[in-house]
Amino acid sequence: MGTAIGLGGLNPPPPSDSTVRVRMIDTKSFMSLHAFSFVKPVMPGHERMSVTTVAFLIENERLGKKAMFDLGTRKDYWNSPPFTLTRIEAAIPGVKIEKDVTEILQEQGMKLSEIDDIIWSHSHWDHMGSPHLFPSSTNLSYGKGTGPFPTYPENPNSNLNADDFKGRKCVEIDCTDLHIGPFPATDFYGDGSLYLLDTPGHWPGHICALARTTPDTFVFLGGDICHFAGDFRPSEEIPLPVSIPADALLNSQKYPMPCPCEFFSAHHPQLREIGPSVDTKSTPFYQLSTHAHSTYKDPATAAITTYGMQKYFDADPNVMVFLAHDTSLLDHLPTFNESPDEDLNDWKESGFKQKCHWGWMGELPRYDKDGNVIGPGNREKPIVDGLWVDGALVEGFMK
Ligand SMILES: [Zn+2]
Repeated sequence: MGTAIGLGGLNPPPPSDSTVRVRMIDTKSFMSLHAFSFVKPVMPGHERMSVTTVAFLIENERLGKKAMFDLGTRKDYWNSPPFTLTRIEAAIPGVKIEKDVTEILQEQGMKLSEIDDIIWSHSHWDHMGSPHLFPSSTNLSYGKGTGPFPTYPENPNSNLNADDFKGRKCVEIDCTDLHIGPFPATDFYGDGSLYLLDTPGHWPGHICALARTTPDTFVFLGGDICHFAGDFRPSEEIPLPVSIPADALLNSQKYPMPCPCEFFSAHHPQLREIGPSVDTKSTPFYQLSTHAHSTYKDPATAAITTYGMQKYFDADPNVMVFLAHDTSLLDHLPTFNESPDEDLNDWKESGFKQKCHWGWMGELPRYDKDGNVIGPGNREKPIVDGLWVDGALVEGFMK
């Protein structure tokens, strides 16, 4: 029996030797976002955030079960309910979806009927994918409070597609079995290999997954618990290192090498929001946005939830945190798309946590010593600009 992770002494998961095999899928969903909807205060030069989107193939080999945690964006996202399209047109400056997750699975020789369960982190269009393309034998699970039901088109104001639910077993996950760290949780397979955690704040029904990768190690699949790793890093438990690892910055010539942490910490945005007393080496760069148009439906709760993840999971050396939109994951880790046999289970031995931990800093703008923006981070341009439909740029969706 393995020894459980510590989680700072707060409700560590019960010991178990049951694990799940976890593989990461690049959903080929690219977005450009208005930073002010996500973070505060926005750093000058970081008004747009470019994001990728990952999903996870989870396999319980002992039980012969496979699940998908999230599905990215459906390829034909312009066929989403009007509620979703209106929001995209109003708030998302760039979207391009190159593939559907169903295509990615099938390209690697997997039948959709092999997927027993789809688990949505939450009911946002960039995570729900295309359940309607899976056979009716695939169950659909989502957190308690997901809605609004009834679905579209019966309810014109719902962002949920009736077709995704029709004819299949749909399960509302109620996390009432146990607590793991600060979060109410449930044991999905009943063997300690995969826990689902109630992680409220961003959107009603939001859940995260804690998947056991070895008896002693876990990956925390964060969905959109928050959207940027700088929302909870650095921290008191893992402060900025003296120099930022070169591979986190993709060895780019744009940075001094070695790159002293002051290159970033001198321009810490909370110096403006909170004031000069901020410890720039151990305070997360961003707070979650709190205004009426914030992506966080309940910003105060989202901040507490994000803090809980940081303190009890990100800080634990036996847990690696994966946010759905963390670009550094695709910079550094194997994907099911490219190497379908490679899983993430040896993340600790492979040093994946260290490789990805500071990658978000490469998304920040660069400043001179006076605080003037010199230029963007690692990425010259946004990954995507404008709304792309079937390979063409469009003004909007309403024909
Ligand atoms: Zn998202």
